[in-house]
Amino acid sequence: MTYRRTAICQGCWQQMHLPIPLRGPASIPFRMFGIRPSRMNPNNCTICELMFTRVMKARTIEVDVSVMFADLRGYTAGSRAMTSGAMAGLLDAFYDECADAIWEQDGMINKTLGDAVMALFGFPVRHEDHAERAIHAALGIQERCGGPDGLLAGLSQSMGDGAIGVGIGIDAGEITFGEFGRAHKDLTAIGEVVNRASRAQAAAPAGAILATRTVRDRIGALGARAAGRDYALKGFDEPVELFAL
Ligand SMILES: [Zn+2]
Repeated sequence: MTYRRTAICQGCWQQMHLPIPLRGPASIPFRMFGIRPSRMNPNNCTICELMFTRVMKARTIEVDVSVMFADLRGYTAGSRAMTSGAMAGLLDAFYDECADAIWEQDGMINKTLGDAVMALFGFPVRHEDHAERAIHAALGIQERCGGPDGLLAGLSQSMGDGAIGVGIGIDAGEITFGEFGRAHKDLTAIGEVVNRASRAQAAAPAGAILATRTVRDRIGALGARAAGRDYALKGFDEPVELFAL
């Protein structure tokens, strides 16, 4: 694990200026009361999660964030070449690599869907530079998975170039966060920004990161040399300009 684990809860500190210890001897009495690192972001605590869930039950909120989808490409093809145990292990390792890269940027893993991960940056802990954080997390995922010593290095050799890899899509802007759904309540983000990030991910080939113009305009020098072109994305009437990073 490479992300920086903070000694106290970042959420409680930012919201209430309360130092809630998350690790080390000081955290032991807190753990006895069930206060421990959250599974969505280990630098937040279970009180944050609880407060958050209560607030969310009452209403939805609008927040400015970056949304990232990362999807393991070639997983279906891989399942023909590997045992189901090996495939499950690969997916677990993929989630771990994603979590590490996302938490390193203080992002939140909102959910995992099949072989994809959805993450938010700039929420619940606020960061003005959330678009930059999302790009760094995306680059981190690509390096951890597709790099020469990455998770998929051996597999891409046996399956051929481009057969297995991670496709990533990112957009930024206002989303609505809350609890949606009737039969199955789901605490998640919705809105056009979420849809666009998801479609950008679907358009990204293995090894690629595609970001919208909004993201490109917010990341300064990081995106200065990124080439953009129009993509026809499902659910969008107009072509959407995406930049390869
Ligand atoms: Zn907390």
